[in-house]
Amino acid sequence: MKKIIVAIDGYSSCGKSTMAKVLAKTVGYIYVDTGAMYRVATLYAMRNNMIQEVEGQKKVDEPALNQAIEKGEIQVSFQLDPQTNLPLACLNGEVVENEIRTLEVSNNVSFVSALPFVREFLTQQQKNMGKKKGIVMDGRDIGTAVFPKAELKIFLTASPEVRAQRRFDELVAKGDKDVKFEEVLKNVQERDYIDTHREIAPLRQADDAIVIDNSNLTKDEQNELLLQYFKQAVEK
Ligand code: C5P
Repeated sequence: MKKIIVAIDGYSSCGKSTMAKVLAKTVGYIYVDTGAMYRVATLYAMRNNMIQEVEGQKKVDEPALNQAIEKGEIQVSFQLDPQTNLPLACLNGEVVENEIRTLEVSNNVSFVSALPFVREFLTQQQKNMGKKKGIVMDGRDIGTAVFPKAELKIFLTASPEVRAQRRFDELVAKGDKDVKFEEVLKNVQERDYIDTHREIAPLRQADDAIVIDNSNLTKDEQNELLLQYFKQAVEK
């Protein structure tokens, strides 16, 4: 059967990765979470004090971060979890899957991912990962910038409140007792704004993308729908 590239884009906390993982497992494709890659770069910047808040505004030390990338000091990779067989994000070989999912990283990631040199660095790696096809990749610019010729492009969306509730439930399930729904909603709205308004590769729906609004779909319904679109794209 011919192998294709599946590009899944959409707003934060839409369930892109849940959907992408299920499809990849069902059809035997590699799954790549590009948001995790931007989160790893952000974690590196945070650990090295490269993000400061000046008068309520986040400021990234761009020259220092750029230099670290150029010197090869930020290696972003994935390791397969032997138990779940799912990819775990790594920073310089250290598994940082839990560290990158905190609200602190979520609050900083859109600033780091808006930087052109960060995007260039990670986009190049993502393009290389798709050379052999047989890949499901999710993010914000996969169908527009990383794989503009992907055979199947999905644009996933849901209302900000529904998305914030899902992220809130996830954080609570992970044991975060202090998290507040309003804070999570604010983060979702802020990231939507920054991701859609940045200069380079802003989040937007590719002209040839199929839109799925999953506000009122169960996980099974959305997985089934995606599988149908996948089958149609492979047969084309
Ligand atoms: O998907 P996730 O919410 O983990 O992504 C975290 C952030 O990484 C997004 O809010 C966005 O700023 C950035 N991102 C991006 N381009 C991608 C994937 C994620 O700019 N392809």
